Parts: sequence; structure tokens; C-alpha cells
Amino acid sequence: MVSMGVLALQGAVREHLDCLHSLPGITGVPIKKAADLDRIDGLILPGGESTAIGKLLLECQLGLPLIEKIQAGLPVWGTCAGMILLAKNIIGQTHCHLGLMDIIVRRNAYGSQLDSFTTSACIPEVSSAPIPLVFIRAPYVEQVGPDVKVLATVADKFVAVEQAHMLATAFHPELTSNLEFHKYFVSKVRKQKLTFS
Ligand code: GLN
Repeated sequence: MVSMGVLALQGAVREHLDCLHSLPGITGVPIKKAADLDRIDGLILPGGESTAIGKLLLECQLGLPLIEKIQAGLPVWGTCAGMILLAKNIIGQTHCHLGLMDIIVRRNAYGSQLDSFTTSACIPEVSSAPIPLVFIRAPYVEQVGPDVKVLATVADKFVAVEQAHMLATAFHPELTSNLEFHKYFVSKVRKQKLTFS
């Protein structure tokens, strides 16, 4: 059994847990405190509001333990606000949150809530069929470091990126019925589990 955590401070937590529960051999675990991190093989940072989640991470004294776990190899996937939490640089902000991925992100890069949109893209690493992509007040990645692999671009902007055991998407696979991204992340987690067991 693979145990997948979803950071459960704010945002689209339930939607990710529902996706995880529909995959065979996976348990989804809401993560609210540092001790919860010891029970998981991988972690999803959901979409929501990155400023709010960042503040709650500090209040719950979860930020530092989380950084340490991810630095030690815990696979992590940030969706939308989760991508912003992972970024080392956020344009127009002097501070970052977890600051672990070598990416420069622009928040609300497509405009306001009204400018939210859906499109689809072929992402060969993830699926042989096009994947629906839902963007809600989404960021995109403006620049990536040398160790970051770009998995998907939309209109020349990077929207899915990967750096070793860290994955980040500007869009929300948990708001569609397409589970390919969840399966892709689970396969990364399984590989990591094999390496460390
Ligand atoms: N705009 C939000 C932020 O900057 C992210 C939106 C989302 O996660 N859907 O944190």
C-alpha cells in the first residue's frame, strides 16, 4: 500500500483525496501537523491561496519539517498554489515559501478569477492521450534552472515542470475526471519507495 499525503490547511484538499482514493493500492492521508509527515510516501500541495497556506504552514510549525522531509527525498507535487509554495523565486515578492524548486513563477499570471480557462495538451511523459488542463487564477513558470525538466507548455509558458522528486503544475488535474497526472505522480512515488526500501 502506498500512503499519499495531501497538505490539508486550505484549498482543494478533498478533490485530491478523492482522486487518490479512486486509484488502486493508494491511501490518501490529510496532513495537518508535522507528525503526519512520518506516515506518508509522497505529498501533494493543493491549489488554493499560496499566501494563506504559507501563513498556516508557519502557524502550524509545519514549514521547516516539510522542507527537511522534501530535502531528504520525500516526493512532492504542487498544483497551482502548491507550485508557488515550492518555487525558489516568486516575481514581485521578496520572500518565497518552501523555496525548494529552481523555478521563477509569476502568480495570477493569466489575470483574475474571470480569466480562468480550460485547455488541453499532449504531455508524452504523462499520457499518450491529450490531458485536460484547468487553470484558475493560475501561475506560470517564467524561468527554470538547469536541473528542471519542462513537461508542458501552454502558449510558450511553462505549466508543468519536474526537478528530481519534485513535480509542479500550474493547473488542477484534481478538478477533472482525468487521473493521468495522479497516476504519474504515484509512479514517481513508487519508484522512490523502491529505491529507499
Ligand atoms: N492565485 C493563487 C495564488 O497566487 C493560486 C490559485 C490556485 O491555486 N488555483 O496563490
